Amino acid sequence: MKKTAGSKSKVFQSARGGVSFCFWFYHALVGCDGMKQEHQRLGCGSGWHGGGLLLLAFLLVVINVRADADHCAICGAAFGETIYTMTDKVTHKKIEVCHACSIWPDDCYLCGLPVRKNFTKLADDRFICARDVKSEVLDSAEALQICTEIRDGLNRHLSSFMAFPETNVDVRVVDRIDLLAFKIPGNDYGCPNILGYISPETNQGEVRYPLRLMSALPRAQLKATCAHEYTHAWVFQNVPGARRKTLGHDAHEGFCELIAYLLMEAQHEPAELQAILDNGYTRGQVDLFVEAASKYGLNDVIDWMKYGEDAELKAGEVWRVRNVQMPPRPPATNTVNLTASPPPAAPDTLLLRSLSASPTRAFALINDVTLAVGETGKAHIGSSNLLIRCLAIGADFVRIRIETSGEERELRYKNSR
Ligand SMILES: [Zn+2]
Ligand SMILES: [Zn+2]
Ligand SMILES: [Zn+2]
Repeated sequence: MKKTAGSKSKVFQSARGGVSFCFWFYHALVGCDGMKQEHQRLGCGSGWHGGGLLLLAFLLVVINVRADADHCAICGAAFGETIYTMTDKVTHKKIEVCHACSIWPDDCYLCGLPVRKNFTKLADDRFICARDVKSEVLDSAEALQICTEIRDGLNRHLSSFMAFPETNVDVRVVDRIDLLAFKIPGNDYGCPNILGYISPETNQGEVRYPLRLMSALPRAQLKATCAHEYTHAWVFQNVPGARRKTLGHDAHEGFCELIAYLLMEAQHEPAELQAILDNGYTRGQVDLFVEAASKYGLNDVIDWMKYGEDAELKAGEVWRVRNVQMPPRPPATNTVNLTASPPPAAPDTLLLRSLSASPTRAFALINDVTLAVGETGKAHIGSSNLLIRCLAIGADFVRIRIETSGEERELRYKNSR
């Protein structure tokens, strides 16, 4: 799942001049367990309107005592003797508010400021202020359309490096309550991000990826969340199972953030780029992934994801991204057979005959055509042929698309013995 930045927190100047946070989305920084803990402790969620008020009152600090007639930035009322400051988590600016606003129980879930009028209340009890609602994608059909466009954008923008699944991802938009409740039992890794969630499901040998997106996300955040979740699907399909076990959780999430970052860069979303770098969700891994991709190229980062020796990237040692254990190449007899022997009779269906790899690329021999990811070629079937495109190569399978029909198929390698 994708992170959210500290931008969901409400900040007050503290008595010691420091900063206190209400971790409305604290789990985004420390994971779901941490979130629950913090929600209970700080009274966010259902408890927020009760004991949370008292805590809030203590967190607020008088910064100024003035007798002039300035007005509250939220409700417009004249200030009393005390003026309070709050930080707008969208603009990152401090504003001055009155006492009533300072203890108002309902906050905009984006900027963290109290909502007094003209706000929108969602079914899951989130509030959005009149200003921020303008950047939201409130319509679920539109959100799904944007997610499809993001998937296509990833496949276009990164076509030389990766192929993202197109037909086996089931996307739905759900509210926050349903998103938090969305847990799929299984032994594979599920992205625990608060804004989105994905986890593979296997049914009768077919792998599908239910992907859930939280409703009413700002447009740019929705786009980055979709890119992040689709990258998880790519990892599930392309990183060998043994490597996924040794890959660190933060590195897995950091790679998904890197791909979201690269797409946001291509789509000129500077605020979302900054939000990706600012959020602490990956505990610094995203910064190292961005550095590694810029120094060594995305291909090397992808190789590390698949075959790297370390669990995560290390600050000051990003060069270790080149420490990889590539799988051994299959015996050259495969190639010799193809060129020196008469071709075998074309099978009557598509078959994955072998998988091989060079230091930088993997190849799949399908019927009589050898393809790397992103390549298209003709595979003979019986007396005719099919134009197929290689979308992904895994440890024991290849995912292809039949170009004439658009149908995608996963072909598994079966040892002929
Ligand atoms: Zn994730
Ligand atoms: Zn006010
Ligand atoms: Zn707001």
